[in-house]
Amino acid sequence: MSEKAVRGFVCELLAVFYQKGWVAGTGGGICASLGRGLFLMAPTGVHKERVAPSDLFVVDSMNGKVVSPSKNRALRLSECGTIFCELIRKRKAGSVMHSHALSAVLAADRARPLDQLEIRGFEMLKGLRGESNDAVHMVPVINNRPKEAELLGEITRVVDTPKFQRAHCILVRDHGAYIWGEDIWETKRHAEVYHFLFEAVLARAQASRMRKI
Ligand SMILES: [Zn+2]
Repeated sequence: MSEKAVRGFVCELLAVFYQKGWVAGTGGGICASLGRGLFLMAPTGVHKERVAPSDLFVVDSMNGKVVSPSKNRALRLSECGTIFCELIRKRKAGSVMHSHALSAVLAADRARPLDQLEIRGFEMLKGLRGESNDAVHMVPVINNRPKEAELLGEITRVVDTPKFQRAHCILVRDHGAYIWGEDIWETKRHAEVYHFLFEAVLARAQASRMRKI
């Protein structure tokens, strides 16, 4: 894809994610590779459905430095930038999205007191690279911090943990999720599959509670 096409697709996905409630209230974000270690990243504190292709920043994923700023000088780079760069380097992600979806927050609650959410028994698991529909898929869950950048230490710890090597997602309690793929198309698919799975886990737990009443 050309840089122009990637810029357009990032903005299109932000609008789609906004419609789904995954990046509401100016929270959440996305980045996508331009090749050569450079990534397009969305600005922070803006209405995600209104972001224009020229609003995006170009960042060097090796050092997190802005190579080309947003054409709108009033905008600041997303606070997710350092975390996106860590996932790009450690998981070879070609794209990462950050969700503030309610389903992600409530699914993380289901994991308490453990630091992982186990997902099993859903055909949709096949939509995750490397998984089958009979997999027990382990998603790491970390605690929230006052600032997004302060999550970096815990993010680094869980991406290095062997039992989470098949995960393409990290849940953050009371906050949301980071979801990635090898390119922007896989990140889109993984975002759709994980949000389905979060909702499915919650619906199944609710159905189980109703049967016990
Ligand atoms: Zn956030």
